[in-house]
Amino acid sequence: MESSSPATVSAGNGPGPAPADLLRRLRARGAGDPVTHVERVPARAGVPAPWPSWASTELRDAFTRRGVVAPWQHQAQAATLAYEGDHVVVATGTASGKSLAYQLPALATLLADPRATVLYLAPTKALAADQLRAVAALELEGVRPACYDGDTPRAEREWIRRHSRFVLTNPDMLHHGILPGHAQWSGFLRRLAYVVIDECHTYRGVFGSHVAHVLRRLRRQCARFGATPVFVLASATSGDPATAAGRLTGLPVTAVTEDASPRGGVTFALWEPPLLPSDSGAAPPDSSSVPARATGDRPSAPAPGQATGDRSSAPVPGQSAGDHDDLRQVRRSALRETADLLADTVAEGVRTLAFVRSRKGAEVVAANARRSLDDAVPGLGDRVAAYRGGYLREERRELERALLHGDLLGLASTNALELGVDLVGLDAVLICGYPGTRASLWQQAGRAGRSGQEALAVLVARDDPLDTYLVHHPEAIFGAPVEATVLDPANRYVLAPQLACAAVEAPLTPADLVLFGDGAKEAVDELVAAGALRQRPTGWYWRHRERPEVDLRGEGGAPVCVVEAATGRLLGTVDGGSSHFLLHPGAVYLHQGVSYVVDELDLADGCALVHVEEPDWSTHARDVTDLSVVSVRSYVDAGPVGMFLGEVDVTSQVVSYQRRRIATGEVIDTRPLDLPARELRTVAVWFTLSPQSLALAGVQSADVPGALHAAEHAAIGLLPLMATCDRWDIGGLSTAVHADTEAPTVFVYDGHPGGAGFAERAYGTASAWLRATRDAIAECGCETGCPSCVQSPKCGNGNNPLSKPDAIRVLDVVLANLPE
Ligand SMILES: [Zn+2]
Ligand SMILES: [Zn+2]
Repeated sequence: MESSSPATVSAGNGPGPAPADLLRRLRARGAGDPVTHVERVPARAGVPAPWPSWASTELRDAFTRRGVVAPWQHQAQAATLAYEGDHVVVATGTASGKSLAYQLPALATLLADPRATVLYLAPTKALAADQLRAVAALELEGVRPACYDGDTPRAEREWIRRHSRFVLTNPDMLHHGILPGHAQWSGFLRRLAYVVIDECHTYRGVFGSHVAHVLRRLRRQCARFGATPVFVLASATSGDPATAAGRLTGLPVTAVTEDASPRGGVTFALWEPPLLPSDSGAAPPDSSSVPARATGDRPSAPAPGQATGDRSSAPVPGQSAGDHDDLRQVRRSALRETADLLADTVAEGVRTLAFVRSRKGAEVVAANARRSLDDAVPGLGDRVAAYRGGYLREERRELERALLHGDLLGLASTNALELGVDLVGLDAVLICGYPGTRASLWQQAGRAGRSGQEALAVLVARDDPLDTYLVHHPEAIFGAPVEATVLDPANRYVLAPQLACAAVEAPLTPADLVLFGDGAKEAVDELVAAGALRQRPTGWYWRHRERPEVDLRGEGGAPVCVVEAATGRLLGTVDGGSSHFLLHPGAVYLHQGVSYVVDELDLADGCALVHVEEPDWSTHARDVTDLSVVSVRSYVDAGPVGMFLGEVDVTSQVVSYQRRRIATGEVIDTRPLDLPARELRTVAVWFTLSPQSLALAGVQSADVPGALHAAEHAAIGLLPLMATCDRWDIGGLSTAVHADTEAPTVFVYDGHPGGAGFAERAYGTASAWLRATRDAIAECGCETGCPSCVQSPKCGNGNNPLSKPDAIRVLDVVLANLPE
């Protein structure tokens, strides 16, 4: 949610130190200078506009009472387009006041037409609740705004359907509740004037493709009742927002992208944590989980079973955000560096937000910063806290309030904050690890800076090939446009189930095939062949009694609740996809700095029972991966090298976890787990090399597995440079001989059923992608491989075997043969 307007004042205390001075003091702390680049992002003056003439006095007065004196130009422009009936997307920076752009036309219409209705969609319940408060606070007669989501009591639902004219919900509720119950909603849908889609850039990848079809189903029901609502979308700054919004809604959309809100200048520093002294007590490389492979053992052709897999799941504690406990640490971890920077800025009285990629990482940063502050001044640590999406609403509100009032000076957060929490105008933002896209980077940095005041943003590089590349190539950050939001509604793993849902709501007609777009006819034929649909003269009918079960959030699955067994207290939730890694029996789970141990993970009920316990070890889940080729879509035959794009089946299973001493990183033991395997049919890009070409390049056959494995790690690390994904969206597997390719092979696959377009993009840019990969490895100053080049934080094989020099040879062979 955004509250910016010419007269909205960001809460704050007095001005902190000037960012340049602050940065000077921060970088003077250690021995060397960790800053590789400083970019000055200039301040921008705001351009106000008059209220549109169509906005009634009543409406203007309501906004004026809330402190909005006049709209900014982009707000007025987008609002007028929407009011005149154009579908519009407003794609401007953080805190540029996008909500006014849709509130104005929507509320003006509700006031002018006492029958009209508005449907507002947010990606999270929390954001919808914030927006509800904002609309309710305008106290407009007869609007009766109400949230309608999974938490809405049954008793209130009928009242909302009948009487609310501004319903706030999320795509999941639209999909599971409103559209299947369209008969009950007919009065509301018949009068629907506007559909507002807030934070629409979050609808990307597979989730975005599902939402695109949910919106087509909504349009279809509206059309049946004679309504053609106008769509108003709000997006973070992104490349080509009109095209993305058009793909999402299936409608022609006009983009408003000229941000006319004022902002303070930002001093943006790129920060590379210092190298550790070689005897610093860094954790030794851990080889306990590696299958026995003595160095002297030289199998001429290792069995396919020795493939090394790298999962594509969500970040896992201790294995993300730079805290590579199982890697040989060469640099200080980004987590520790960020914790120190947070402590230092808080000690200076600077209101600071630290973005950390994993929830556990955020807890670790907050805990470490608290500890150093308490060491300096007992009690000072209380002014730092952790924040993440899984917290309960009351906890989140309390943290926001405390930061706004200055009781709290430092907050470490996952990017949950990106989704519309009302925190802007901070003095400093620390970004622990590149957040995956330039769009996210700018969105996080955009939290820094109040109007008219300078602020500091620092990107702290993780020990990771992409982060390392970026802090040494600032032009790749500051000289490149933000990425476009990628979604693919034609993904048949999305289209077929969505058409099934649509058929339950009303039989499909030939006109619907046009509405649902490319691939719809084929998907309907498939559903007919599978016996799910029956064709009759009047259309295609759903044949079963039960509705199809379709989860918009794909493989993430339903969230798992974390419950304290002794008290029954709900601590928070973890998404289904991460639950095997985070909440397996015996896992140590951190919540607000308090340590719990999991007693039981009940997958059927979706809950994990935990008790308070603070052991002196951490836990690290391990999984095994298997991959088989289903079909080849496209390939390049380049002599000894083959480059392929196709479908694959990936099976992975969390099989064990290690317990490691927190102080030393020493492995205490490895314990087996009994969790079900997860299956994934997806799209992969892979390359093969002939054994002869490898031998000619000087790669010993015994070193082939390590060469391929190292090349695979670095290739995964660099792919986000080419595609709008992050490392965690992608998985990989390499092997000296694969059963399906019968050759040394490196696979890189989309971690989403049916693919999300990332592997396809990698295939399309293969030579540029592998060239950057080769350069990143070759330019790294380490000798035998480090997390900045060939080690991976999510390796399923404990980063063994790896051969850095041979990885360069492998990539040279590929690049020498592959056409540009
Ligand atoms: Zn290295
Ligand atoms: Zn690996």
